[in-house]
Amino acid sequence: MKAAFLIGLRQIEIREAPAPRLEGQREVLLRINTVGVCGSDMHYYTRGRIGAQVVQYPFIVGHECAATVVEAGGEVRSLRAGQRVAVDPLVACGQCDQCRGGRRHTCRNQRFLGCPGQIAGALAEYLVLPADCCTPVPDSLDDDQATVVEPLSIGVYAAQMAQLAPGARVGIVGSGPIGLCTLLAIRAQVRAAIYVTDLLDERLAVARACGADWTGNPRREDVVAAIRRLAPLGLDVVFDCAGEQEALDQGVELLEPGGALLVVGIPEVNRVSFDINLLRRYELRILNVRRQNECVAPAIDLVASGRADVRPLVTHHFRLEETPQAFELVSARRDGVLKAIIRISPEEQVRGPESEVRSQKAKDC
Ligand SMILES: [Zn+2]
Ligand SMILES: [Zn+2]
Repeated sequence: MKAAFLIGLRQIEIREAPAPRLEGQREVLLRINTVGVCGSDMHYYTRGRIGAQVVQYPFIVGHECAATVVEAGGEVRSLRAGQRVAVDPLVACGQCDQCRGGRRHTCRNQRFLGCPGQIAGALAEYLVLPADCCTPVPDSLDDDQATVVEPLSIGVYAAQMAQLAPGARVGIVGSGPIGLCTLLAIRAQVRAAIYVTDLLDERLAVARACGADWTGNPRREDVVAAIRRLAPLGLDVVFDCAGEQEALDQGVELLEPGGALLVVGIPEVNRVSFDINLLRRYELRILNVRRQNECVAPAIDLVASGRADVRPLVTHHFRLEETPQAFELVSARRDGVLKAIIRISPEEQVRGPESEVRSQKAKDC
């Protein structure tokens, strides 16, 4: 099969690799249809690591994917060949204290798709995964939507963790795909005033299209002062979806006493700092969001029911052979890119004329 291998910093090569074989009774062989390029893939691409997770070359990254079941192991009851699925990239052991306590996402023996030293990623034609990782999607979802289910599940989980009350004042610092998925999830969940910031104006335009009440660019204005004018008491919750020191500082400064900063973004550095006097005096809470927990099915529901429209997030399409261009584009944040989707297998003709028009457009990119 063909796969896209990371072979060095900012170097990707399409190579032939042996196709994986179905071995376990509870596994499925998947044909990968589409893969979304994620910010975390960018860390591996440009720096070769996230924290202690260091890439050993050659390595296949990619974990946001939509797939079709080719073959299911003997004990798999939930899936059958031909079914389209959204993939949860986390493989948990199911045995440890965390798994038993309902925290599969912090499983002590976890392996993650496209994570160095764990499982080779999805930028390949075929993949074998436990059936538990796959949730069927209705035919009304196209492959792009099924691909964005994974980042949307992170937004759903972050919104859930924030326990927002109706009328909450909410900040989202960073309007990339994860910030926008968080915005869509909050919008679908509760009535709230949502303030969104980003350094790129085109991302703010998409945030407004996704339901932000106010947007601001810290390159052009003091966003903390501007939001303070609109919400003088401060915000209940701020989601950091940027992972930069400056963004974390802004997040803390925007909070009301007793408010919470949810750290969803992945900082490039191993250490960040907080103004301990602010945190202490106002009893601010810092909550960390580790991907998501059991939020794939709710995310599929949000998309299928039309309560979350993820389509404005998908800005670019590429073929597997064009993976290097896709990664360069996302890394440079050029051309208004938000979610770039790489098509691995030809699109199945199961959907209506609207998606055909879209896939036609995709070929033009
Ligand atoms: Zn991701
Ligand atoms: Zn476990």
